[in-house]
Amino acid sequence: MAEKSRIGVTGLAVMGANLARNMARRGFPVAVHNRTTSKTTEFMKDYGDEGAFTGTESLQEFVDALETPRKIVVMVKAGKPVDAVIDELAPLLDSGDIIIDAGNSHFPDTDRRAAYCEERGLRFMGIGVSGGEEGALNGPSIMPGGPQEAYGEVEEILTAIAANVDGTPCCTHVGPGGAGHYVKMVHNGIEYADIQLIAEAYDLLTHVAGLSAPEIGTIFEEWNSGDLESFLIEITGIVLAKTDEKTGKPLVDVIVDQAEQKGTGRWTAIDALDLGVPLTGITEAVFARTLSNLRDERREASTTLGGPTPGSGKNRDELVEDIRQALYASKVVAYAQGFAQMRAASQANDWDLDLGAMARIWRGGCIIRAQFLNRITEAYESHPDLDNLLMVPYFTEAVANAQDAWRRVVVTATEQGVAIPAFSSSLSYYDGYRRERGPANLIQGLRDYFGAHTYARTDADGKFHTRWSQDG
Ligand code: NAP
Repeated sequence: MAEKSRIGVTGLAVMGANLARNMARRGFPVAVHNRTTSKTTEFMKDYGDEGAFTGTESLQEFVDALETPRKIVVMVKAGKPVDAVIDELAPLLDSGDIIIDAGNSHFPDTDRRAAYCEERGLRFMGIGVSGGEEGALNGPSIMPGGPQEAYGEVEEILTAIAANVDGTPCCTHVGPGGAGHYVKMVHNGIEYADIQLIAEAYDLLTHVAGLSAPEIGTIFEEWNSGDLESFLIEITGIVLAKTDEKTGKPLVDVIVDQAEQKGTGRWTAIDALDLGVPLTGITEAVFARTLSNLRDERREASTTLGGPTPGSGKNRDELVEDIRQALYASKVVAYAQGFAQMRAASQANDWDLDLGAMARIWRGGCIIRAQFLNRITEAYESHPDLDNLLMVPYFTEAVANAQDAWRRVVVTATEQGVAIPAFSSSLSYYDGYRRERGPANLIQGLRDYFGAHTYARTDADGKFHTRWSQDG
């Protein structure tokens, strides 16, 4: 009888196939399966000699090919297909077997599936995997959630296939239940904010500084050697430098300005609203994508609604440097907000998230990988109970140093009519957060006037209500 496989992967589209190849290349025997059998046959034909694969046609054959307790990675389309696969697998498995959903599942679904599996004596893990197809093959960032002891049984494989930075794998146990998928969701939300800030910088460099796409590409290439060094800044330089073969123009200039989304940014924003965490950068990034999709309305509005037409009039070199600093300060705010959200979720769900470790496992493999994450890890190592990243000296100083430039950029963009929702909302968050006394006293007064909602006083304990008008 053939040797049993250490782990199984079902779902051989790009992500599942590449994860399976990554495992096999690192010496783990892997059983593979896909609902449509021809894909498994194709996989075995193309990659069968890369490692110790066992190709299987039925789920029963797949389950039989695995050593026990079985470890099964499900890498199918997120949503109902995950439930369908679990329903089919569960009756074929033995008590203690581990089902690992490695897709982009919504964390409440992961909690529900964990309970469903537990009732059947199975163990369930929801793991976030970031890095796209390239990462899945060569080393992604992995965010595993679920029972600690189940993680212990797959740790060797997951840490071996993960990206590795300075000898540390970009994989660590995140927490119980849906914690892994939660952290992956916030990771994707931060990715939305990062990308939106880059798009706003590009817009300003194009329409205020008057630069061409390749010229801006060169600027991003330079920026990638400083504080902003990151995968997204690096690929922005590459994307802006690309020429369209058909027209000879920069390729970005012929791409339609409508951004799509798969939902993780929206989930992050909705969860922030539920938790009561101010998450302006990520939420504005989601709204900016939805506004981009109002293409017909925008076309009509562009000839109806008045406003300034952007154009230079500024020292170009100074403007470029100001935009770089505004981008960095806004990025710090977006990360501060995302980490504050994870902290609130950790407290609400008793997850005990190690936020420094989250920044550590995002340093390699994933889309938001960046030098800057080292600073976040250090911040949480020295202040584990930190409320807000802006409050550690490194980030306090970084934003203080950038804020004059940041304010100039927001003023210039506003004067010249360029929409910068992420830059400006991040600055407003910063100004709101650093105010000891804001204007919410008036909000409370109004609420008490029209709804008798009561208010607290600065000079006495308790709740108060006032009859504000003589007729009231
Ligand atoms: P995908 O296009 O999301 O899904 C295709 C796979 O799902 C195929 O193997 C398909 O099988 C299977 N499937 C669909 N419905 C099924 C059902 N009812 N029962 C059984 N299998 C079913 O594949 P992907 O792009 O590789 O992504 C997989 C997961 O990783 C998703 O959750 C995705 O969000 C996540 N993810 C993707 C990326 C990325 O860059 N693509 C990055 C990170 C995470 P058939 O061949 O039989 O149709």
